[in-house]
Amino acid sequence: MGPEGRHAIVIGGGASGVLLAFQLLKTSPPNFRVTLIEKRSEIGRGLAYHAGNPEHLLNVRVSNMSALPDDPEHFWTWLCARPGGPQCPDPYCFVPRQTYGDYLAELIAPLKARDGAQGLTIIRDECIAIQENASGVTVALAEGAPLTGTLAVLATGHDAAASRLPRHADPWASPADAGIDSNATVLILGTGLSMVDYVLSLLRHGHQGRIVAMSRRGLLPRAHRRVEAMRLGEGEIPFGARIGVLLSWFRRRIAIHVAEGGDWRSAIDAVRPFTQRLWQELPPESRRRFLEHARAWWDVHRHRTAPEVEARIAEALSTGRLTVIPGKLVTVVPNTDRALVRYRRRGRSELSELEIGAIVDCTGIVRDPGASSNPAVRSLLDAGHARIDPLRIGIDVTPDCAIVDRLGSPSRRLYAIGPLTRAAFWEIIAVPDIRQQCAELAARIRNRDP
Ligand SMILES: Cc1cc2nc3c(=O)[nH]c(=O)nc-3n(C[C@H](O)[C@H](O)[C@H](O)COP(=O)(O)OP(=O)(O)OC[C@H]3O[C@@H](n4cnc5c(N)ncnc54)[C@H](O)[C@@H]3O)c2cc1C
Repeated sequence: MGPEGRHAIVIGGGASGVLLAFQLLKTSPPNFRVTLIEKRSEIGRGLAYHAGNPEHLLNVRVSNMSALPDDPEHFWTWLCARPGGPQCPDPYCFVPRQTYGDYLAELIAPLKARDGAQGLTIIRDECIAIQENASGVTVALAEGAPLTGTLAVLATGHDAAASRLPRHADPWASPADAGIDSNATVLILGTGLSMVDYVLSLLRHGHQGRIVAMSRRGLLPRAHRRVEAMRLGEGEIPFGARIGVLLSWFRRRIAIHVAEGGDWRSAIDAVRPFTQRLWQELPPESRRRFLEHARAWWDVHRHRTAPEVEARIAEALSTGRLTVIPGKLVTVVPNTDRALVRYRRRGRSELSELEIGAIVDCTGIVRDPGASSNPAVRSLLDAGHARIDPLRIGIDVTPDCAIVDRLGSPSRRLYAIGPLTRAAFWEIIAVPDIRQQCAELAARIRNRDP
């Protein structure tokens, strides 16, 4: 170790970056410091936990949202200690996502470096390039001077796509800021959790016009219920089987459980501790088939909404405020202040038309890192320090989170965590998985040779 000690640079201060920084510093050796680079004004919020709409609730119950894998009560205890209490009766509840952002910001605050030598330094800037050399890494910033460190961890998370559609509104901004005519029809592309968020935001802002949500199959996310995970032994699961065999086994298992009076959610929850291993042992062709044919089904059952949110959406559907169309957008022709949308309903050959005032692309998270506009990710790909996995759903990393270069060699100094690593882990989107990944990577980084 040099006299200045070891220095980890974490790029991205959303949930993943914060959880990693916390794990790195909670029992760090002397002369260990962390710099967290975040381009937004706030730490710990990212795309999910910003201080926007308080009706946007967590999609995971409080009891599963502790930041610390070895202290499952941590978030609930924090909520209970707040002035005003937890605002829900027990840990099986769904608090506003902005509250979770407060929790993460508070978690990390005491770690901030006081003497500049150890601890955490937070820099508000955008990382525009990362370079690795024999003795360390150099991280270039949009505004500040370049930083040098021992290693860098990419925690850049979700990449929000810029829509090129006419009359589009930003799905991550408030409808009030988009200037949407409150009587106009709004078309939302996608029928998943982001669509649900946007519908709640439109209703909150008094939108009176129709809201139409469209996706290929028109599947809506299911909701949580108070159920315990079913008992599932590791030995029962056909690891390594082709996807057809695996899904038949799983459907059969769910049917038995439901026939015995159980809830399908218990079966989905029972398989969760094994999903990373299932993914890693799936034959490559089966992974592709899963993404093509079963992913939409899996997503709506696995990524569920709070029951309160389900009730709001059910009401919007029953009163006709919201319509869901299974179909595909074909063209958008703008006119003076509206646009004419042509789409094909699922199973039909003829086109249908809809006049809309705005389109909101809620499918808009970039899933192919090759299409990423994030300069940090781009710089690694362009220099060959990273490569895209064969399914094009993430960058290639080892099970230890080391970034694999163009020639297939894992880096000793460059790592990635969170959604960017989904090719290796698949289930690495939500906090229960990310917190575990961060704890394990932090332990390896702390224990490694410089
Ligand atoms: C709308 C939404 C709701 C969700 N709700 C839940 C939930 O209730 N429970 C749950 O467990 N999971 C939820 N998730 C899943 C979510 O993926 C994780 O919980 C978590 O937020 C992922 O955090 P992240 O830090 O990896 O990514 P992000 O939240 O995307 O954060 C990445 C951060 O990196 C910064 N950044 C990116 N590039 C650079 C750069 N070049 N330089 C500097 N900074 C950069 C960004 O500004 C951002 O702050 C939700 C996701 C979304 C999108």
